[in-house]
Formats: sequence, C-alpha cells, structure tokens
Amino acid sequence: MNTHFDILILGGGLVGASLALALSGGRQRVALLETRPPQVDGLDRDDDWDARVYAVSPANRRFLQQLEAWPADDRVGMVTAMDVRGDAGGRIRFDAAEAGGEALAWIVENRWLLAAIWRRLADSDVELLDPAEATAFASDARGATLTLAGGRTLGARLVIGCDGANSWLRREVGIGAAVSPYGHSGVVANFLCERDHDGVAHQWFTGDGVLAYLPLPGRRMSMVWSCADPERLLALSPDALCAAVAARGGRQLGELQLVTPAAGFPLRLIRPERVIGERVAFAGDAAHTVHPLAGQGVNLGFGDVQLLATLLRDADDPGAYGVLRRYERGRIEAVRTMQYTCDGLFRLFTHPHPLVGWLRNTGLSLTNVAGPVKKRLIREAIGF
Ligand SMILES: Cc1cc2nc3c(=O)[nH]c(=O)nc-3n(C[C@H](O)[C@H](O)[C@H](O)COP(=O)(O)OP(=O)(O)OC[C@H]3O[C@@H](n4cnc5c(N)ncnc54)[C@H](O)[C@@H]3O)c2cc1C
Repeated sequence: MNTHFDILILGGGLVGASLALALSGGRQRVALLETRPPQVDGLDRDDDWDARVYAVSPANRRFLQQLEAWPADDRVGMVTAMDVRGDAGGRIRFDAAEAGGEALAWIVENRWLLAAIWRRLADSDVELLDPAEATAFASDARGATLTLAGGRTLGARLVIGCDGANSWLRREVGIGAAVSPYGHSGVVANFLCERDHDGVAHQWFTGDGVLAYLPLPGRRMSMVWSCADPERLLALSPDALCAAVAARGGRQLGELQLVTPAAGFPLRLIRPERVIGERVAFAGDAAHTVHPLAGQGVNLGFGDVQLLATLLRDADDPGAYGVLRRYERGRIEAVRTMQYTCDGLFRLFTHPHPLVGWLRNTGLSLTNVAGPVKKRLIREAIGF
C-alpha cells in the first residue's frame, strides 16, 4: 500500500512529537513515525520518578502550554534561582526576580512530558505510524519516499529527521557530521533530600567535571554529573552513591536518599554539515547536540520546532528549497552560539592550568557583582 503525506516526521521524541502536534490541524497532511512509542497511561505512581529530566526555558514552557502538552504541576520543579560555583572560590548567583521573571527554568521528567505530548497527538489529525521502522530513503526534486521494514512505502513532499543524535536518516541522506566526544558522560539520578531546596538549582564546576542539582517537586532533586569516570559512579551501591553526591555538593541539601537509580549518557558535540537536503530537513539532536551543562539541548530543539511550524504550516510546498533554506538560515546563529558557549565553558572549567583556574573563578565572581551584565546574561540564556 502506498500512502502520500505532505510532511513525514521520523522520530517521536520530544522534538518530533511536539513538531507533529504544532503542525496538526493545519493544511498539511502530517504523519509521525516512531519505532518505540512512549508509555502514555499508567504514569501516576508517586514513587516513579524519571531520572532523565530537562530544564525547560520559560519561553518553551509557554510554547508547550499553548499546545496543551505540559505535565501537571505536581510533576514539575520550578527553578527560581541558580547558584553556580567554580573550583577555587568563584561564585555567581542568578535570581529570576532580578530579571523580572517568575522562574529561570522548569524541571520536567522526560517520560511525563513525552506522555503529555503524545496524549494530545492521539486526539489530533496527525497519522501515528508506530511502531514503524524506516529502512530506506530516496528523494528527487518533487518528493521523498521512505520504505518501512516489511516493504510498505510512504511518500511525502518533505521528510523531517527528528531521529536523535545518531540519526539514521542523516546517514541515509549522506550528510556528514563532525562528532567530538567530550570524554565525559552525564550521570543522572534522582534523590530525596534532607533539606528543602527552595527552588534553587546548584551547579559546581569541580575542575574535573560539572555537578548539578536540579529541584523537583517536594524535597526531591535530580542530579546531572558530567564526569570522565562514569563507571565508578554507576558501580556504587545506593548508599555509597548518595554519600558521594552529597559530599561533592558540600552537603548543600543535607543527606541524600536514592529515588531513581543512576544512568549514564556519553556526551558528544555533534555538528552536521547541513540540516537540510533535497526534500529533507533535520531538527533536535539529529541537527545538533550540546554539552548539557547549560541544560539547553532540547530547548534548542523546541526552537527548531517553532521555526519549522511557522514556515511549514501554510507553505504551498513544504519541501521547497526556499522554505528549507529559510529554516537553515533562521536557526544557524542560535545553534552555533549555544554550541560554542557550552563547549567553551566546558573547556574553560576543565582546563588544568592554574592561571586558567584563577581566571575562570575571578570571572564568575566579577560577573556576579556586575548587575547589568548579569541581568542580560539571565535574559539571553533564559529567554523570558
Ligand atoms: C545527561 C543529559 C542531560 C540533559 N539535560 C538537558 C536539560 O536539562 N535541558 C535540555 O534542554 N536538554 C538536555 N539534554 C539534551 C536532551 O536530552 C536532548 O536534546 C533531547 O532529548 C533530544 O530530543 P530529540 O527528540 O531530538 O531526540 P531523541 O530524544 O533522541 O528522540 C529520537 C526519537 O527518534 C526515534 N527513532 C530513532 N531512529 C528512528 C527510526 N529509524 N525510525 C523511527 N523512529 C526512530 C527514537 O526511538 C526516539 O524516540 C540532556 C542530555 C543529556 C545526555
């Protein structure tokens, strides 16, 4: 059976699923293909907390709320301030109130946000082709074809690859990518804390890595620890892991109790040569990855989604080169700036030279007392 769509989205993670939802109800016939559809129901267990969390910016929260795809408040942590410390006394604190905002970011669990988006998709006019796996791609000037495992072929005027950092589609189309491993993994886990976090996120640049405590509802906290020896942390018993994480964070939140076991994700900077091709475009991690120290990876992806949705909704031909080129040009600056900033910060704060160590700590403390600079930093980073 052959089926033809205007837009075929490959990959229903946060980026692909929110793009499909943002395009729903419009003039384009949209389909979403996902190999592993997420669990949508039965997520109401109070003790079941996903260790994979995201710090979502206020602007992207508004976008998701407009899509009516934002989880219930009791699953969302609010970051009202952020306290960042260097490895030799440097310190900077950002307060949302200083820049006139309610929160710097909102901490949401991957599973709950995905479920909120997919629940809305089920009621939309998007055709959900799941579980489905694409095995071949071809395109010419008029359109593109995806062949699925089992032989079914799907035609579209535009195929959008939202299939993650190891994008199958990017390889299939023949777009190369510069991949630079950081030699670090992000180890994540959730904890119950002895003390209230009061909505403050903490981050420590420890010289050999970056440790973050992100506030979850109640006394829960989600940890992201970028380190070169993840195996050591992942091999620890729950009690030993709690002790190590509490000690590294100077017992800021007192003693810890493990809520969700630790998991590790290798960290890489990925910069594809192009994010568009003939009748194809890429968004989210398929188009770029960044070090998670600023919590901006999926935020960049939501930025891709919003521009794509604006350009494609009413386009006569969503796969026309001119439309795709506007997308590529519209995103390049935001993506490059974020990649250079996160990459630069990571290198600056893991550089072993003592002079660099002095500079980075002095820089943090000086910025902390430079009110207007700090306010601008908050506004630019957060996007109030
Ligand atoms: C440790 C860590 C912490 C992070 N913290 C933050 C944070 O605080 N804030 C933030 O903004 N970002 C954060 N990020 C980044 C964030 O995780 C990613 O940017 C985001 O998950 C990318 O979403 P995506 O939808 O593009 O890709 P993915 O989540 O990888 O989704 C890709 C989807 O495509 C599907 N797929 C793949 N191949 C196929 C195929 N051939 N056919 C059909 N479907 C396919 C997969 O099953 C998957 O569902 C963090 C990353 C790490 C590693």
